Amino acid sequence: MNSKIKSNSNLTYKICTKCVMDTSDPDISFDDKGVCIHCSNFENNQKNNWFRGEEGETRTANLVEEIKKEGVGKEYDCIIGLSGGVDSAYLAYWGWQYGLRMLAVHVDAGWNTEMAVKNIENICKKLKIDLITEVIDWDDMRAIQKAFFKSKVVNQDIPQDHAFFAALYKYSTKNNIRYVLNGYNISSESALPLAWRGNNAMDVVHLKAIYKKYGDKKISSYPFLQVWKMRLFYRIFHNLKIVSPLNLMDYNKNVALETLKKEVDFIDYGGKHHESVLTRFQQSYFLPTVYGYEKRRAHLASLIMSGQMAREEALKELEKPLYSSEVEKNNDIEYFIKKIGLSRSEFNQIMSTPPDSHDNFPNQDRFNEKLDSISAFFRKIIR
Ligand SMILES: [Zn+2]
Repeated sequence: MNSKIKSNSNLTYKICTKCVMDTSDPDISFDDKGVCIHCSNFENNQKNNWFRGEEGETRTANLVEEIKKEGVGKEYDCIIGLSGGVDSAYLAYWGWQYGLRMLAVHVDAGWNTEMAVKNIENICKKLKIDLITEVIDWDDMRAIQKAFFKSKVVNQDIPQDHAFFAALYKYSTKNNIRYVLNGYNISSESALPLAWRGNNAMDVVHLKAIYKKYGDKKISSYPFLQVWKMRLFYRIFHNLKIVSPLNLMDYNKNVALETLKKEVDFIDYGGKHHESVLTRFQQSYFLPTVYGYEKRRAHLASLIMSGQMAREEALKELEKPLYSSEVEKNNDIEYFIKKIGLSRSEFNQIMSTPPDSHDNFPNQDRFNEKLDSISAFFRKIIR
């Protein structure tokens, strides 16, 4: 086993007395009452950035006013990325309620379920939102996704997420839009451990380094986010503002889902992030099998922290198998293998080798430091 891969094998099993996070998070720690670091982090930090009640309403009104002011004289007030998931769908509904003129961007990286496509169509049609669907070249996408699978790094979402960010940036600048609506919410995403997340998907240096080691073809049109563009163009010249309105309300996923079902005929996927077959395969098979990480555990823990679920209920939920049947599991595996272009024996061989670590690849931070020193050097010469 790679020494840099974090392992919890040295820890004796322990589960938080307040939520359901346990020693499957290799970095977890507990206080003398057995309460985990995620619970205390939620109480001491994250909760302070989640504005409910009157304070949330005031902040929402101010934000909407700012966004609308920025949109004066333009075709759109803001841009929103639609994945087909509940959070971004509800965010679109929120924007519609406040009369925001939104441009929706969806990235088709080849893994959408039919339900997700239908949901996105319904949202945009019913709420009269203009939609751009960016289709990523499948040969490129498959090659990058396959390389990531071969590496077995924790963050298998990087190829999809990177393309998603690239499209958002591209269309926001193209349409001169400054506000990006983001579906991140403390309500259901507060407890995700760092070790389970892996590296940042925006980091092109990291993505390319993993591809260089495990990839097998020349990439032709996959949208890499360039470092200089990220640093200079988007951040400084264009001054993009990424906002998370779901943290300005008492956001409750169940209520959101019911509202969406009623208002935009939203179809329930019956599980978090199951709008994409790939995400389902990764969360229900890959991560639990390779790392012992069950993302639903962190999700349920977040719901407990935000008062949306009782601990008992979450524990019961965790007793259920990740797939309702072996057939369902095998279907996902077969689908993945076929789609990505592997044979069963290649798949088995990859699954039996130890995973590589994100730490074994360079990242943008080091590159940024280099860029800083290069520009400092040039400033000296010019002077
Ligand atoms: Zn806890």
